[in-house]
Amino acid sequence: RIVSAAPASPQEDALERALRPKRLDEYIGQQKIRDQLDIFVAAARGRSEPLDHVLLFGPPGLGKTTLAHIVAAEMGVNLRQTSGPVLERAGDLAAILSNLEPNDVLFIDEIHRLSPVVEEILYPALEDFQIDIMIGEGPAARSIKLDLPPFTLVGATTRAGMLTNPLRDRFGIVARLEFYTADELALIVRRSARLLDCAIDDAGSLEIARRSRGTPRIANRLLRRCRDYAQVKADGTITREVADAALVMLDVDSVGLDLMDRKLLGAVIEKFDGGPVGVDNLAAAIGESRDTIEDVLEPYLIQQGYLQRTPRGRVATAAIYRHMGFAAPGPAAA
Ligand code: ADP
Repeated sequence: RIVSAAPASPQEDALERALRPKRLDEYIGQQKIRDQLDIFVAAARGRSEPLDHVLLFGPPGLGKTTLAHIVAAEMGVNLRQTSGPVLERAGDLAAILSNLEPNDVLFIDEIHRLSPVVEEILYPALEDFQIDIMIGEGPAARSIKLDLPPFTLVGATTRAGMLTNPLRDRFGIVARLEFYTADELALIVRRSARLLDCAIDDAGSLEIARRSRGTPRIANRLLRRCRDYAQVKADGTITREVADAALVMLDVDSVGLDLMDRKLLGAVIEKFDGGPVGVDNLAAAIGESRDTIEDVLEPYLIQQGYLQRTPRGRVATAAIYRHMGFAAPGPAAA
């Protein structure tokens, strides 16, 4: 998927890092989270203490990793980055924790995918800055307590509901990232265009913004494709017309839905009569994993009112029947 919200190739990763805002006042949107962090960071710094542990949740590409880096920069400390699936053994985490410097930030992406043994080690580390490690084997084995430097854990996950309760309870600051408005995304597009030295007018920025599924990562990716298009097919400036032509070429429709979105919605309408359809049946019908549907595809479709989640399954709304050019919905549709 060209416009998927997941990070793609290493080159794209490098570009993405280059576009990442470094400080809180460059971070656009998410006003509530910014206001809170501003206060909590200043307070922690004033007391020379680490910031309380932070849990960030929300769909991919909304700026969780960026925010973790910003927290470290605003605290004036280092950031160590790892992810749930990478930490296989308790020792992997113990090694990272014991190498932190006081008040450092440890960022664990996909924290809902930590193995239970690693999670066990994490609890006392988060609460008392201590870990219990086993030394020796068999009858001679014993557990020793190791003191850690005080640190801040920033955990990121797509859905807060996937965390175990004891883990979620150990975060003092819990923030849910929201989809961005078109105006916010237009600011992000303009900022990125400036950094990429790419000419774009206001209507061009807004067109890309409107069609980016509320997601900065997608906005930045579409901007780069529009830049290519403007360079080869126009005079180099991204206008509304140029953006529109490029987005049509990329199969991004007038409201920003891409091929996968339309495949999912088309299946609900055509194969399941508008629903309700269970997520597993839907996954089988479109050949995507249940996780991709729940984490990547449907949050935006639900937020936009194209899809509804009911106790009996997903239901296509009248709005999406209209948008996709289908006749009036059957009685099952909302
Ligand atoms: P996540 O970790 O939630 O998947 P990232 O933090 O990697 O998302 O953000 C994806 C890209 O979107 C980053 O490269 C960054 O440039 C951009 N981005 C995210 N949030 C913002 C924001 N609030 N302002 C400007 N750019 C942003």
